[in-house]
Amino acid sequence: MNAYSWLEDSLASIKRANWYRLPRTAIPLGNSQVVVNGQTLVNFASNNYLGLAHDPRLKASAIAAIEQYGTGTGSSRLIVGTNELHRQLEAKIAQWKGAESALVFSSGYLANLGAIAALVGSQDIIFSDELNHSCLRNGAKLSGATVVHYKHGNLRDLQTTLEQYRSQYRRALILTDSVFSMDGDIAPLAEIKELADHYSAMLLVDEAHGAGIFGKHGAGVVSAENIAPPLIQMGTLSKALGSLGGYIAGEHRLIDFLRNRCATWIYTTGLSPADTASALTAINILQTEPQRIDRLWSNCQLLQEVLQIPVHSPIVPVAVGNISQTIDVAKELQNQGFLVPAIRPPTVPTPRLRISLMADHTEAQIRELGAKLLNLIVKTGMS
Ligand code: PMP
Repeated sequence: MNAYSWLEDSLASIKRANWYRLPRTAIPLGNSQVVVNGQTLVNFASNNYLGLAHDPRLKASAIAAIEQYGTGTGSSRLIVGTNELHRQLEAKIAQWKGAESALVFSSGYLANLGAIAALVGSQDIIFSDELNHSCLRNGAKLSGATVVHYKHGNLRDLQTTLEQYRSQYRRALILTDSVFSMDGDIAPLAEIKELADHYSAMLLVDEAHGAGIFGKHGAGVVSAENIAPPLIQMGTLSKALGSLGGYIAGEHRLIDFLRNRCATWIYTTGLSPADTASALTAINILQTEPQRIDRLWSNCQLLQEVLQIPVHSPIVPVAVGNISQTIDVAKELQNQGFLVPAIRPPTVPTPRLRISLMADHTEAQIRELGAKLLNLIVKTGMS
């Protein structure tokens, strides 16, 4: 028997379930448009919320960093892979987030995997929102801690499980997205923090979709809601900041500990000079140009009016039917010039279109998308 033949069976069942996916090649036009298979589409699928990935200042700083430091760091951070840009970016993130210190990782995914696995182990317990992002869930698994999933955003369930299990374990860690990546709703952070403090649990908040959007200078939901330290703020450089990489911000002792115990930071090559420099420039822009964030929020407001559904963030899920109906509506929108991804199991429990808004979208683009979508929903019989 061929040791790899199970792969075909597995792929066949993925296809039968309508879960099969392939990446599309997309050529960004540097505004809210993208070319896919020769067709120009309005891009409602990107996490480049503020359009910074195409900002000339980010590009210039990335090019200058390559000229000065080269394309790769060539080493892990603790050996010889730390440069001046890493130090500047980490200081900038700490200042922006109102934290004592920060550490940058090669991706947000690695930041969560590594931090969670470093902070808790087999004698400990994790309380995790059931709709948390994959990297929080996989970080929890990797840690070897006992994992309890509480009902999405449900404080009563979180409290009940804390009451029931907390005292049986050494350390406890609560994990939550601030803005949920597939539903766009916001975690009740102030109340979660109160519970964390009451039950002596650490709290890690994933601000991948909160940073750059909420709070003063886009510092995130933690900042917008004035959540007092100590807590662990995680974020990514790859979405609103238009670069690549992730970070953890928090107390000095936390960062110091991670530098010594976090495998996904210690045993991997330092973030590239281009990514580091462009992220640094992005945060400087956020701190001086609040109008970008304001534009994004006016677009959220407009979509809310057009679709007549609550919009809590630039991530707007729209249920249009079962998996094949959702795929059909996404295809039809694409035929009509709009790229809106169909998100389906196993990524999410229920299929939906996921609209991502950007500061660069025009009023006309949003109104047109809304009209076409409402039309298709009526045709699908979902109205
Ligand atoms: N957390 C959340 C909530 C995310 O949506 C993502 C990316 N989709 C990540 C973490 C991972 O971030 P990165 O893309 O930087 O690996």
